[in-house]
Amino acid sequence: MKTVEENKKKYVKSNMSQITKKPPPVWDSLFQAFEPITPGLSRSYDKLLQLFTMLNKQKDLFNTILSNMKDMIFIMDKENKIMYMNKAASDEYGESLGKNCYRVICNQEMLCQQNGMENVFKGQAVQLERTIKGKVYDSLVAPFVYGDKDLYKMEVLRDITGRKQLQNELEKLSITDKLTGMYNRRYFDDVLEKEVVRTRRLRHDLSLLFIDIDKFKHFNDIYGHAMGDKVLQYLANLIQTHIRKGIDVPCRYGGEEFTIILPETSNGRALIVANRILKGFRNMKLRIPRKNEAIKKTISIGIAGISQQSNLSIKSLLVHADKAMYKAKKLGGNRICG
Ligand code: GH3
Ligand code: MG
Ligand code: MG
Repeated sequence: MKTVEENKKKYVKSNMSQITKKPPPVWDSLFQAFEPITPGLSRSYDKLLQLFTMLNKQKDLFNTILSNMKDMIFIMDKENKIMYMNKAASDEYGESLGKNCYRVICNQEMLCQQNGMENVFKGQAVQLERTIKGKVYDSLVAPFVYGDKDLYKMEVLRDITGRKQLQNELEKLSITDKLTGMYNRRYFDDVLEKEVVRTRRLRHDLSLLFIDIDKFKHFNDIYGHAMGDKVLQYLANLIQTHIRKGIDVPCRYGGEEFTIILPETSNGRALIVANRILKGFRNMKLRIPRKNEAIKKTISIGIAGISQQSNLSIKSLLVHADKAMYKAKKLGGNRICG
C-alpha cells in the first residue's frame, strides 16, 4: 500500500511534466508575435493597478472624512428619497435610506416646500435657517448631476443652536438697560419710528409717556447712589406692572428718565395709565435700611400722541412729550401734563 505522501508526489510529478512540456511550434510563433507589446501591456497593467489602489485609498479617505464630519449630509433623488446619509445624519435620524427626506428630516412636508426646496431641482442652490426638533440649523441645499444626467440634491445641515443662542443673547443685551432690565434708548428710537409709521398707515392712535423722577440728584446725595439705583429699579418694575406686556414698550431713556410707547392708545387711555404709575410711585413701598424710614419720591409725566387730530412727526412727538414733562415739573412736579 502506498502512503498518501507518495501518491501526492507522483501526482505533482506527472502534472509538472505536463506544464513544463515544450509548447507546440504554433505557440512559438504566437509568443514571438506578442513579444514586442508584452512590456507595454505589463506597464499598462501596473499603471491600472496603481490607479485602482489610489482610487481605493481616496474612497477610504472620503469615507473617513464624511463619517467624521459633524455636519449632516443627505443626498436625495428626484422623488426626495434619501440615497445617502453620512454618519452624523444617521446618528441623528437613524438609518433612513430610501425614505422620503421631508418625513425623516422635518416631518413637515409643506413647510419644506414653502421654503423653496422644490427650486433646487430647477437648478437653484438654497440657503436657509431651519429649526428642527428645537435645534437651529444652517441648511444649504444644492443640486448636482450624478452619473450621466440624473439630478440629485444634496443638503448639508450645520447645527448652529449654540451660536444662535449666543447671538440672541447678544441682541437682547444690546437693546436692554442693565440696571432696570428695560429696553434702552437705542431700541426706543427704532421702535418709535416703526410704531409711528404703522400708526399713520392704519390711521390709529399712539401715545407716548415721558417720565422723570423729581429731584433725584438730591436723593442720591442724601441716601447714596446704591439706594438711588433701588428707586430706579422700583420705578421700572412699577411701570412694567401697569402696561400691556408685549404691546406697550417701556424704555429707560437715560439717567432717571423713562419713556413708554403705547400703541393703539388714545390720549384719554394714556392718562389713565400715567395716573396709575404716578400714584404707585408716590406710594412706594421702599424703606431706607437701618433707619427704617419710608422713601418719599415723586415723578413728573408728560404725554404726547398721534391721532386723527394731531399728526406729529417722530421728532415733534418726542419734543411735545418732553415739553409736557417739563411743564409738569415747573408746576411743582408730582403731576401729569399733556
Ligand atoms: P428734576 O426734579 O429737575 O428732575 O431734578 P433732578 O435732580 O432729578 O434732575 P437732574 O437732571 O439734575 O439729576 C438727575 C440725577 O439722576 C443725577 C444723577 O445723580 C441721577 N442718576 C442718573 N442716572 C442714575 C443711575 O443710574 N443711578 C442713580 N442712583 N442715579 C442716577
Ligand atoms: Mg432728568
Ligand atoms: Mg429728575
